[in-house]
Amino acid sequence: MSELNKKIDNQLSLMRESGTYKNERIIGSSQETSIFVNNHNVLNFCANNYLGLANDIRIKNAAIQAINEWGYGLASVRFICGTQEIHKLLEKKVSDFLKKEDTILYSSCFDANGGIFESILDENDAIFSDELNHASIIDGIRLCKAQKNRYKHIDMADLESLLKNSTSKTKLIVTDGVFSMDGNIAPLKEITELSRKYNALVMVDDCHATGVIGENGMGSGSYHQVHEHIDIISSTFGKALGGASGGFITSSYKIIELLRQKSRPYLFSNSMAPPLVSASIEAFNVINSDPSIFKRLDENTKYFRQKIIEAGFEIRGENHPIVPIMIYDAKKAMELSKKLLEKNIYVIAFSFPVVPKEKARIRVQLSSAHTKEQIDLAINSFIECSQELNII
Ligand SMILES: *Cc1c(COP(=O)(O)O)cnc(C)c1O
Repeated sequence: MSELNKKIDNQLSLMRESGTYKNERIIGSSQETSIFVNNHNVLNFCANNYLGLANDIRIKNAAIQAINEWGYGLASVRFICGTQEIHKLLEKKVSDFLKKEDTILYSSCFDANGGIFESILDENDAIFSDELNHASIIDGIRLCKAQKNRYKHIDMADLESLLKNSTSKTKLIVTDGVFSMDGNIAPLKEITELSRKYNALVMVDDCHATGVIGENGMGSGSYHQVHEHIDIISSTFGKALGGASGGFITSSYKIIELLRQKSRPYLFSNSMAPPLVSASIEAFNVINSDPSIFKRLDENTKYFRQKIIEAGFEIRGENHPIVPIMIYDAKKAMELSKKLLEKNIYVIAFSFPVVPKEKARIRVQLSSAHTKEQIDLAINSFIECSQELNII
C-alpha cells in the first residue's frame, strides 16, 4: 500500500504542477441557464443542455409518472427481467427519429461505444478511426481484435490511403459527428463517398449532434445530407435529449440483434431505469411536437457567433452551439474564465493536454433556453474582461 500511495502522490502532484488537475465546482441548484455556484447565481454557458430539457417540467413529470407506474429500478439486466414495455417504446422512438431499422439501449453512450466493436468485428476486419475520436471509441476499439487504423483528424487523403491499402473483409470507418473541443462537424459527405468507393461501413458517434444539428435534430449525417449512408449511429440521452443519462446504438435489424446477444455492457450491466426511459421518450415527444426548439438554438448560436466575431474574437467550429473562443495562451485563458466567473458568467477554459499546446480556448456552449438578454450579458462580459487582459 505504501508503494502505491507514493506512486499516486507523485502522479497527483505532477498533475497539479502541470495544471491538468481537475477541480470540480459544486453546483447548488438544478441544471439550467442560471445556476447557483460559489454562493452566486451565475449564467451557465458550459452545459451540454442544448435544448434546455435538463430541468424541463414536461421531462420531470414524465420521470415522476414513470416512477409511479413502472417503479424506480429494475434490479436486472435487460435479458433476465429488465425489459419493460417502455424500453421497447424508447427503442422504437429512437429508430423512428433517426430513420433506422432498430435500436439498442445502453446505460451510457460510453458503454454503447465500449460494446459495439468487439461484437461485430474480428481479426479479419479493420477499423478506421479519426485520431481525435472520443475516449469511449478509443477504449471500445482497444477491446476488439480487428486491425486498427488511426487517420489524421478529418484528413480524407490519409483515410483514403489507409482504406486503399486494406485487404480486410469488413472495413468500418468511425468518427465523432461533432468534435467537442472545436465544435467542428465531421466531413461526412466525403467520408461516405470514400466508404462507398472502398466498400466500408460508416459509424458516427453523434452525442453532440443528436437533437442539436441537422433536420429537426437528426444529427450530423442529416446536416451533411448523407444520413441514409450512415450505417451505425451511437448517441446519448445525456446531452440534448434530456441530459440525464443513457445511450443507444441505432442501425440495421441484424446488427442490433447481434448486439443484444453479444455486447458485454448490454448483457452484463443493469437495464436503464424507468424514470430515465420515460423521460427520454418524453424528450422525443417534446422535440417532435415543437421543432421551433431547434430554431431557437440555431438563432442563439448564430447570434452569439456573429456578435463575438464582431467584437474581435477568433472562434472555431461550424454553425454549432459549441463555440470555442481562441485565446491561445493557457494562462490568459484561465484568467479570463476566472474574471468572467466574477461577473457571473460560467465558462470553462481548456488548455493542454485537452487541446494542443498554445491552443488554449474558452468553450462557450449555447442552449435554446438562453434568452437574448443572457447572451448579450455574456458577450458584453467577454468584451470587458478581455479588454482588461489585453486579449482584444
Ligand atoms: C458525451 C460523449 C460520450 C459519452 O456519452 P455518455 O452517454 O455520457 O456516456 C461519448 N461520445 C461522445 C462524442 C461524447 O461527446
